[in-house]
Amino acid sequence: MQNAKPHAALLASPGMGHLIPVLELGKRLVTYHGFHVTLFVVATDVSTTQSLLEEPYPNLNVVNLPLVDISGLIDPTATIVTKIIVMMRETLPSLRSAILALKSPPTALIVDLFGTEAFAVAEELNMLKYVFDTSTAWFLAITIYVPTIDKSVEDEHIIQKQPLRIPGCKSVPFDDTLGAFLDRNDQTFIEFKRIGIEMPMADGILMNTWEDLEPTTIGALRDFQMLGRVAKVPVYPIGPLARPVGPSVPRNHVLNWLQKQPNESVIYVSFGSGGTLSSDQMTELAWGLELSKQRFIWVVRPPIDNDASGAFFNLADGSEGAQKFLPEGFLARTREVGLVVPMWAPQVEILAHPSTGGFLSHCGWNSTLESIINGVPMIAWPLYAEQNMNAAMLTEELGVAVRPKTSASERVVSRAEIEMLVRKIMEDEEGFEIRKRVKELKYSGEKALRSKGGSSYNSLSQIAKHCEHSLHFQKAKAQG
Ligand code: UDP
Repeated sequence: MQNAKPHAALLASPGMGHLIPVLELGKRLVTYHGFHVTLFVVATDVSTTQSLLEEPYPNLNVVNLPLVDISGLIDPTATIVTKIIVMMRETLPSLRSAILALKSPPTALIVDLFGTEAFAVAEELNMLKYVFDTSTAWFLAITIYVPTIDKSVEDEHIIQKQPLRIPGCKSVPFDDTLGAFLDRNDQTFIEFKRIGIEMPMADGILMNTWEDLEPTTIGALRDFQMLGRVAKVPVYPIGPLARPVGPSVPRNHVLNWLQKQPNESVIYVSFGSGGTLSSDQMTELAWGLELSKQRFIWVVRPPIDNDASGAFFNLADGSEGAQKFLPEGFLARTREVGLVVPMWAPQVEILAHPSTGGFLSHCGWNSTLESIINGVPMIAWPLYAEQNMNAAMLTEELGVAVRPKTSASERVVSRAEIEMLVRKIMEDEEGFEIRKRVKELKYSGEKALRSKGGSSYNSLSQIAKHCEHSLHFQKAKAQG
């Protein structure tokens, strides 16, 4: 039957960390479930985002929504999360018009965490509405649980700095709490709670995790009792969705260099699409790497002293002259063993390369998944957002990473500690054990995605079925 397969509209909020998993979800819906997908992207002027979207994919159309000017709407010092949320809000009228302009009306709207206000558009246009939590189940649990807790419990966590207990899940120690909780008067906190209320209003919540990675938390999320006053909403672990090695990535000098290094001998150092370090921290990291005497690739950005997400919308600046902010002589002394890459590197290709043996990462969830699916052990160096929670899970629960003793975002980690951590992950017995565990996780993730019985494959199939039913129902209704 022509047009028997559903059309899904996907909405990605600005930032590679959101766009990548939403795009991968679109590809899976097309390839494995026969969907037609329209991906709406909220335009920013970040060039790395555009390059991702240039690779054509059959039955997946990308629509760039117009750039929105939020300069008059928020304080310029607002957090990156608040900026993204306000951009998404301002985009809603263009999203509505763009959906109405499509030739075939979509059956479902799937938004990421920052797009839940678009549910109103989905309801108006008779579409199913889903939200895709591009992070962990643990992060989802805290997001939808927090708006329901009593003020006294909230105070206990935020003011008295006690661990936040989430029924059925691991508690969140204050030191690992979400960035949004650090200032209750900030707009980010208020918006975060709103999102937590809106998410359970969806027809389902998709998560970029898998059953065997977070069985307890996923179980708790499914347990109505755990959610207390939260509406019961089905949750679908559909991960690990991560960007594959691109066929069209040109062989650049980084990959050529990597090709000449021994197996699993190089540690890759990168802080995601927006992470930046203070100048003192950069100096210590440079010394730590040098003293470890390990091979490395380091994505270097100009230091910013009090904004760990300082490069988020700002990747075009300062792409030259890394030597200006590295210790004197560092580049010359490490020339034989290290490669400094300004601003941006082909991360997926680096992590998939056999010469890469470790990853010092800010623990953004995409970077984490890319490391896991390539069996690469990590040094967890969280900077902002939910990255501390990710780091805690990777070290304490999954045992696939080591971490500086106290929060890297709150103090300068010394060169001695960095040297020790790098050696541990690259050449110690403990590092080999960690490597073994991460390889086990890699296989577990592959298994979840298999089209024969994979838990994540089955989860997405259930959503596909709901969409198909809804489409057939609407058609039948239209035919009277
Ligand atoms: N990335 C990349 N090259 C870089 C830095 C980042 O390709 O030099 C990609 C990385 O592979 C990942 C994404 O950007 O897919 C960053 O997402 P993540 O969730 O790890 O962190 P965020 O940038 O959202 O903090």
